[in-house]
Amino acid sequence: MALINEHYLKLTKNYLFADIAKKVNAFKVSHPKSNVISLGIGDVTQPLCPAVIEAMHKAVDDMATKEGFHGYGPEQGYMFLREAIVKNDFLPRGIHIDPSEIFVNDGAKSDTGNIGELVRWDNNFGVTDPIYPVYIDSNVMCGRAGTLVDGKWSNVTYMPCLEENNFVPQIPDHRVDIIYLCYPNNPTGTVISRDELRKWVNYALKNDTLIFYDAAYEAYIQDPDIPHSIYEIKGARKVAIEFHSYSKTAGFTGVRCGYTVVPKELTAASMDGSERYPLNPMWDRRQCTKFNGTSYISQRAAEAIYTPEGKEQVKATIDYYMGNARLMRETLQKLGLKVYGGENAPYLWVKTPNDTPSWKFFEQMLYGAQVVCTPGVGFGPSGEGFVRLTSFGDRDDCREALRRISEWMMK
Ligand SMILES: *Cc1c(COP(=O)(O)O)cnc(C)c1O
Repeated sequence: MALINEHYLKLTKNYLFADIAKKVNAFKVSHPKSNVISLGIGDVTQPLCPAVIEAMHKAVDDMATKEGFHGYGPEQGYMFLREAIVKNDFLPRGIHIDPSEIFVNDGAKSDTGNIGELVRWDNNFGVTDPIYPVYIDSNVMCGRAGTLVDGKWSNVTYMPCLEENNFVPQIPDHRVDIIYLCYPNNPTGTVISRDELRKWVNYALKNDTLIFYDAAYEAYIQDPDIPHSIYEIKGARKVAIEFHSYSKTAGFTGVRCGYTVVPKELTAASMDGSERYPLNPMWDRRQCTKFNGTSYISQRAAEAIYTPEGKEQVKATIDYYMGNARLMRETLQKLGLKVYGGENAPYLWVKTPNDTPSWKFFEQMLYGAQVVCTPGVGFGPSGEGFVRLTSFGDRDDCREALRRISEWMMK
């Protein structure tokens, strides 16, 4: 008899975006002539840049010849890409990462979801709240989150990010085994200063805490004082694993490529605490067993982002999205809404007027302006009273959505 993993039964039933899709479809059925614009889902809209397309075409041609054909590649990724990463994402910031510390993947979601395999199921963990749902759900699946009580998991330390604390999470007053941080943040669009990040690294060093740092949006940082990588902080190599993704950086959501950094100095303790084991060879072993590498074509595509043309073109697309963000911020603020984020991230975190619950405001805006947002409470209890808007849309759609929101709000 095959027994199921009963932890899966604890997962809350519907994924946030499925609930949204259901409500939007219900609206469309009752309003067949409507033209709904989504400022909701976190997917990009602009095509891949020419440098990437050219590299992909060339890689396809390679695959068509006996000499250029690539079958299974190294599970850790091709050296041409790992070296380009080291040289472009880290060295210019004074960070020394060895290519053997880079693991190329098929996007950051897989690794942020799988990384928990390296540590015992009964470690406890902490998350900022609101949060990217993958961090919690992947832990629910192995029993690490405990049980759900009043919307919170019993084995999880929630660190609220609220207006009152300027969205800066407070360092726990007790020991937490694992901490997830995501900066620039999805969903709030806020960033972490160097001083605040240093506090986390010091906390981790002092408490023997492992930090999982998701830097999926680092390419959106505009302010030169905001850190792009946790390894900009001294001591971080001993405590942190960092996740990167080309999805939002270069529109790779449909191409699939990213990478994870597992430094050689990073260790975790044995059960009785008497010994320490490095995580880099463990992750290597895990990847070699369960992952057969990212496609050659995707890795050539990623490599092209680091060429001079690639860099320029990728930046132009990010500037385009950040132009949307600026437009949205200005318009919504003029309407009297309180808007956070959107300055170093593609997300705007908007406070609903008069303490309207997130889902209620979502429906009001859908029916009033035919614009879709994401209810903040879907990202955790502290997201209640907020909605998330994304700047990933087309400029024209973005303008039209703002025009409708203005008209609706001024009624
Ligand atoms: C979009 C996103 C990712 C990237 O996911 P991919 O699998 O690389 O497409 C990672 N973390 C967060 C917080 C995200 O929003």
